[in-house]
Amino acid sequence: MKKILKNNDIVLTGEYLGVVEEYLPDKNSTFIKDGAIYATKTGLINLDMDKRKIEINTHQDEDRKTIKLGDIVIGSILFIRKYSVGLNFYTINKKVHFNSYFFGNVHVSQISNKYIEQISDAFRVTDIIRAKVVEEKENEFDLSTSGKDLGVIHADCTVCGTKFDKIAFGKLECSTCGNMENRKLAYDYGEINEHLRY
Ligand SMILES: [Zn+2]
Repeated sequence: MKKILKNNDIVLTGEYLGVVEEYLPDKNSTFIKDGAIYATKTGLINLDMDKRKIEINTHQDEDRKTIKLGDIVIGSILFIRKYSVGLNFYTINKKVHFNSYFFGNVHVSQISNKYIEQISDAFRVTDIIRAKVVEEKENEFDLSTSGKDLGVIHADCTVCGTKFDKIAFGKLECSTCGNMENRKLAYDYGEINEHLRY
């Protein structure tokens, strides 16, 4: 009888998974013999039904510290260049990676779907932003903050350090010193419960 595989089913090394007509097998966790796919490790089935991709993950893989395109990251702005900002991030898809950090860049064209004249109207050093990984390079990642769920989620006044209040779309005001600045804000600026300070 043919077993129907489901996500998170446990399979053992050498177990038959299906045939190449059914699935696109992952090279790292399966092997093919005479058109049949077998597991090369013991772990949990991960099926991508759209692409018919099949792979086997272990719990170690689940905790992996690699980053994939489309991942959402949270990090703080380290520096501002003419056409991009650099940030480090420790949080990937709401998991905090305490022992490592990753480095990302947001190019001016990736900040917003609106035109940004100067980067300081979108970000300042120490802002905490939520961004999406759009390109992977060696050890760096290109990020985008275009979209209403992405952008600054926490910012302190650059004059006195008080947490900024949002007063309008893209506008922040300091309740202590009255300083006003612009940012590319995420829709939930200031309402964040996620762990942001490290
Ligand atoms: Zn202030």
